[in-house]
Amino acid sequence: MWSAEPGGPVHPSTSVWRPLGAGEIQVTGGIWQQKQQLNAEVILGHCQTWMERIGWIGNFDRAAAGAIDGRHSGIEFVDSEIYKLLEAMAWELGRQPAAGLERRYCALAERVAAAQEPDGYLHTSFGRPGQPPRYSSLETGHELYCFGHLFQAAVARLRTGHDDLLPQVARRLADHVEGQFGASGRGAVCGHPEIEMALVELARATGEQRYLDLARLFIERRGTGTLGVHPFGREYFQDDMPVRRATTLRGHAVRALYLASGALDVATETGDAELAGAVRQQWAHAAARRTYITGGVGSHHQDEAFGDDFELPADRAYAETCAGIASVMLSWRLLLATGEDKYADLIERTLLNNVLASPRADGRAFYYTNTLHQRTPGLVLDEHELSHRAESGLRAPWFEVSCCPTNVARTLASVGLYFATASDDGVQLHQYGDYRVTTTLAAGTVTLQVSSAYPASGTISVKIVEAPAAELALRLRVPGWARGSAVLSESPATRTPGHIEIRRIFLPGESIDIRFPDQARVTYPDPRVDAIRGTFAVEQGPLVLALESPDLPPGWNVNEIAADPESIATSRAGVTIDVYRPAPAPDGWPYHPAPAENRGERARTQLIPYHQRANRGPATMRVWLPVCPPATPVAAAGLSA
Ligand SMILES: [Zn+2]
Repeated sequence: MWSAEPGGPVHPSTSVWRPLGAGEIQVTGGIWQQKQQLNAEVILGHCQTWMERIGWIGNFDRAAAGAIDGRHSGIEFVDSEIYKLLEAMAWELGRQPAAGLERRYCALAERVAAAQEPDGYLHTSFGRPGQPPRYSSLETGHELYCFGHLFQAAVARLRTGHDDLLPQVARRLADHVEGQFGASGRGAVCGHPEIEMALVELARATGEQRYLDLARLFIERRGTGTLGVHPFGREYFQDDMPVRRATTLRGHAVRALYLASGALDVATETGDAELAGAVRQQWAHAAARRTYITGGVGSHHQDEAFGDDFELPADRAYAETCAGIASVMLSWRLLLATGEDKYADLIERTLLNNVLASPRADGRAFYYTNTLHQRTPGLVLDEHELSHRAESGLRAPWFEVSCCPTNVARTLASVGLYFATASDDGVQLHQYGDYRVTTTLAAGTVTLQVSSAYPASGTISVKIVEAPAAELALRLRVPGWARGSAVLSESPATRTPGHIEIRRIFLPGESIDIRFPDQARVTYPDPRVDAIRGTFAVEQGPLVLALESPDLPPGWNVNEIAADPESIATSRAGVTIDVYRPAPAPDGWPYHPAPAENRGERARTQLIPYHQRANRGPATMRVWLPVCPPATPVAAAGLSA
């Protein structure tokens, strides 16, 4: 049941698969180790340095000293960025203890704790002399949202083995919130969901039932009109209908996904099958109709919202990094709850093609939005300037609303915890890469070393380092893109479309190899996605590929090409394709009675993984490539009655 045992970000009291803690799974190589090191060595420091320089961390010092009146820096919810940084640091310390980072973590936690008021309340934007009163702006103030991020930071500290200052601060704050918003308090919710899942996790980590009860109240109250009207409508903050009646994810994408995550957590802990079913339905609808090929979500810039079904324009994709992270958080909860492979598929797609696309290769700039078609090369930004969130074609060092960089930091620090799970009698590998699992099953301890250059290669080796002399089940996910083509080094095994399971006694020293195709492949969109009809994308393994302007001949432009889907070639050097530059229309008019026949000038060009884009300076880029005219024009067919 509930406990403060070591674990990951999500630790349900009941689940099909048991999540592993930082002591049970370690990333040991490959792209994820490289990104985790980048996070530890660059991104954490980058976030902290920026927030010191622009006064966001100093808000806590000024609040503690009674000198915040008129001197608050940043928008009203910047506290949450410090909490996400603390969460990232806690997961990083759980992954790889380091004395210097531990000191920085403790010093930062002390500055936060010093700003807590005697009754437990803790926010630098509200309630002090000269500031708006507490809870006076629940629609847009993000007060409870910030608390939620503090609770998640505290849970990360508890789950990595430390019940120290931040968890104490979190308990006092949670008790305060419970007094204010519990059954006998004000019947209200926060305009930005987040506290719901955080309260459930804090309940799980501390054993405090009242925090779960409060989370349940927040979920039940949502959609009953307790919030005022928002300029973007009630759907924007999911107050248009009760969570259990909604059939899809809608409105502001991060809000929608955080809310659904919290609703599933509440449903899991209270045995509410109807609520859990509603969340599964919402996920399925959004995955089938409201998700980009990169796993990104949200096609509206103005309200950062999910679009309508199949409203997925490539060049207007908002696909906020935080929404991708929130999607991973929801899919992970559903994977644990149901054991179904489709959730791990979307986690893979989203991590590798949306979340990983955000940080620049040097870890000092980030994408907030992740377009699938960059029409104009971005401007090189001043590395010391604050950026608007979606204004540039290039990554920015920091933003006025800077939710994404710290969200990337906490995700990278904990990403390995999403790779595998355990059950009483086996281990399930959901994501591939280079990592080591050591966990105790009913029959004894099992240690596996997974070795692979994945996603660069589709060959994975699982070495049994240690295993009890008892029958175990090793379950390997077969990604959706590799369905029917996985090659296993042994038989018999139980195969389903989504996974292969080997159930037998394993001997230390033996290896099981699994191979997925390395060839690049063509992917066509559903014709209902109007904005990309007549185009195709190229994928290789779990990676979405992109065409970027530095790979085109001089003077060519990604906006004025077509490509031949039959010309794709995969070699050790990468994936190449024929692209064509159509000749100008002779009549100076782009609309004609018959399809174009002339392919125009040809060039052979390289495609790159989408997540690596914009690391070579200003560039244009596109994922969806217009199909060029056929090589041999088809004779005009006669009309048939
Ligand atoms: Zn964000």
